[in-house]
Amino acid sequence: MSLTQKPRVVVIGGGFAGIQFIRKLDKSIFDVLLIDKVNHHQFQPLFYQVATSQIEPASISFPMRNIFRGNLSVQIRLTEVERIDTTARKVHTGIGAFDYDYLVIAAGCRSNFFGNNHLASHVFTLKSTYDAITIRNHILMTFERTITAPPEEKDFYQTLVIVGAGPTGVELAGAFAEIRKQVLPKDYPRIDFSRFAIYLVEGSAHTLNNMSDSSRKASRRYLEKMGVRLVTNTFVKDYDGDTLQLSNGECIRAKTVIWAAGVTGNRIEGLPAEVQAPGNRIRVSRTNAVAGLERVFAVGDIAYMETPKYPKGHPQVANVAINQARNLANNFSRRLKGWPERQYEYTDLGSMATIGRNKAVVDFPFLRFKGLFAWFVWMFLHLMLILSVRNRLVIFINWAWLYLTKNTSLRLILMPEGKLKEQVPRHQTTGNKEYHRNGAEVVDVACL
Ligand SMILES: Cc1cc2nc3c(=O)[nH]c(=O)nc-3n(C[C@H](O)[C@H](O)[C@H](O)COP(=O)(O)OP(=O)(O)OC[C@H]3O[C@@H](n4cnc5c(N)ncnc54)[C@H](O)[C@@H]3O)c2cc1C
Repeated sequence: MSLTQKPRVVVIGGGFAGIQFIRKLDKSIFDVLLIDKVNHHQFQPLFYQVATSQIEPASISFPMRNIFRGNLSVQIRLTEVERIDTTARKVHTGIGAFDYDYLVIAAGCRSNFFGNNHLASHVFTLKSTYDAITIRNHILMTFERTITAPPEEKDFYQTLVIVGAGPTGVELAGAFAEIRKQVLPKDYPRIDFSRFAIYLVEGSAHTLNNMSDSSRKASRRYLEKMGVRLVTNTFVKDYDGDTLQLSNGECIRAKTVIWAAGVTGNRIEGLPAEVQAPGNRIRVSRTNAVAGLERVFAVGDIAYMETPKYPKGHPQVANVAINQARNLANNFSRRLKGWPERQYEYTDLGSMATIGRNKAVVDFPFLRFKGLFAWFVWMFLHLMLILSVRNRLVIFINWAWLYLTKNTSLRLILMPEGKLKEQVPRHQTTGNKEYHRNGAEVVDVACL
């Protein structure tokens, strides 16, 4: 750092923690370099609505250059961080190395496959807007394929398995059950949607394991009523793109498996082994300083902070990421002023999940409720978390439209043409009839 320049803070990751930290940091004192491998901040809690064609990807993705537009103290580089050198104070990336005076690691998490690489290459994940669009494309393609698939294969295409009954799994299952009933039959009148099977597989005994007993029970009831097949106390052993093997000995043939069964930290090379914490997280102090390293901090999902209230680390949720980041930004100014830094502690304001139209469960510290009112509370609080007023409005209009018409116009399959050809079963058409390559007749396509 030269005497004329402001100290440079390099932030790895523009998720909830990274963005909040930069917003709150006093930029008259510090310059910021934000490095992210994607060019937009992603609102993960609503990924499942993109995957189920309920909202547009653009309404939950915020270009980082737009967030910090006009702020000359914030620079952005679009690249993946490969390695950190804490001795030379450098961050090595795909486009070169960057010096830092202070480093804030806010790299978040990725899906955890518990070492099963075979399974990992065949399942879908929901950790980015791109993942959500991929699921949307794939699901819509499976219905296109169902139309022309031979009768014995139709069930395979129409079987969807979601693994993990935490909030993401439950919300996905509920949303798919909803569009199975309300939306898809109108698009595909010749498909028998009573055969569209939605499984939710969970290793523990309950759905929404981290919520109250009443919310667990209510979510189970809601899902069962909506026709979701719950398989609890069961682990997934393997999946080869065709057949899912379960620990209870059962096998399910399914074209689609979505993995929502846990996360692990996006660790970056170069940190000493001593700071490794459970879940691939980085061990930090109560002020988010990385243990034993000078000028290096970690915040959000990647940070592992033990406190008397949370001796096994905080839950990996948006509120923790946002509040840790705010505290850290304040501490940066306090430190320069010679004031004591503030230690972080999480005040749990509750958790919630929605299971479908008019159905949600809410656990506040002082109150628990479910049903229509909970659903409105869920929608309101999620809308408030959305970054821009424009996007809030777009999402609100989408939700209102869906509620009133039970329809959206977002069911686009967007993929390169070559890929599209691969996915559609090859067949020949003669008059009103279609034939598979193997000669079997396909249903009367003129009516579809
Ligand atoms: C499907 C889903 C639903 C969720 N629902 C909820 C919910 O309802 N309520 C709730 O409170 N929480 C929810 N969460 C959890 C919440 O989204 C996370 O706790 C939160 O995003 C953590 O913020 P973060 O800033 O630590 O990480 P993230 O938001 O994950 O941001 C990490 C950023 O780092 C970038 N990055 C990672 N590695 C590198 C690298 N090597 N180089 C460059 N950039 C990198 C990523 O591109 C990303 O932009 C949900 C999560 C998911 C996946």
